[in-house]
Amino acid sequence: MNKTVRFLNLEVSETERVVFHSLLENLMRSGHIILGPEVLAFEKAIAEKCGRKYAVGVGSGSDALYLALSVLDIGPGDQVITTSLSWIATANAIAITGAEPVFADIGDDLNIDVNSVKSLISHKTKAVVAVDFTGRLANARLLTDLCTSNGIYLIEDGSQAFGAISDGYRCGGYGIVSAISHNPMKVLSALGEAGSVLTDNLLIKERLESLRYNGTINKEWLYKPSINARLDTFQAAILLERLNNIDVVISKRQDNAYIYNSRLNLSGIVTPSPDIESFHVYYTYTILADFRDELLSALSTAGIECKIQHPLLMSEQEPYRSCISHSMRAELLKSKLLCLPVHEKLTESDIHYVCDHILAFYKAKAYHG
Ligand SMILES: *Cc1c(COP(=O)(O)O)cnc(C)c1O
Repeated sequence: MNKTVRFLNLEVSETERVVFHSLLENLMRSGHIILGPEVLAFEKAIAEKCGRKYAVGVGSGSDALYLALSVLDIGPGDQVITTSLSWIATANAIAITGAEPVFADIGDDLNIDVNSVKSLISHKTKAVVAVDFTGRLANARLLTDLCTSNGIYLIEDGSQAFGAISDGYRCGGYGIVSAISHNPMKVLSALGEAGSVLTDNLLIKERLESLRYNGTINKEWLYKPSINARLDTFQAAILLERLNNIDVVISKRQDNAYIYNSRLNLSGIVTPSPDIESFHVYYTYTILADFRDELLSALSTAGIECKIQHPLLMSEQEPYRSCISHSMRAELLKSKLLCLPVHEKLTESDIHYVCDHILAFYKAKAYHG
């Protein structure tokens, strides 16, 4: 009999529901429903977890990225190099400042290729936005060295990798500014839209606090035109609560991923290479699969929901087609990308069920040549 293995399950557990009801009750009673102590407490806690001095809570990951670029005065006439493979919000944040996105190729880990970045640096380059794609850090060390020696900013889009660690670097902790999304799909998620910007620089932190409130200082003096992107107080309370339990969420995702790693050791598939040095949080469990589209429909028939992230490279989207782009490797890999369900609410038996169907698919393929 078929079961359903869902790619996403945003239902809130009974335990959390009880706690969240009381958080909301407290908020309504206190009347501190804009910013307030919950936002401050969350900012302090996430900064600590990411090894940063400061965090500024904002309305979404997209806001976080836009404000990270805006606070560095990136705008018209500037080029910003980013990866060709990410959620479109990454390129959009660059374009919305008026700067020109430049797309670098990816490596086999699906993250931005540092050599490709190097070859794209020009006199117009103002920054690099590195994305920790799928839940694994980009090469923070090489990117830091490259940006420092070229006098350009490094910005981290850590939206997919909260909790990831590699080579002594933490998600949210490298570059001059980091942006993280806490939308409900992300590893550290709110009950709606939310995001964080992190930095070690006090002036940048203070400017971010202005920029998230229309660019005003003391609500009177305009420092720079901006948007309203304050973190919702209730979301901050939820995030603070979930942050306390984040290690359990991450280790459940990793346990699921380890089952895949050990069972999907077959030709036809490349799994995320188990790298002892890095702590991957598996925002997605992304494989490179031969016969990807056939596999996707076989799994779908078996009630298993998978996703292709992303069917189009950012550089292939209509508004970005005229941008400079090096994406040879990305174009090759994209037809094989497949994200298997890996979230923390899945059971071991769900994961084995997915593995059984994948193994059966490739076995049948081998028989039929
Ligand atoms: C989710 C995501 C964003 C955008 O975050 P929102 O909170 O949805 O605005 C940006 N970049 C990447 C890589 C993401 O995965």
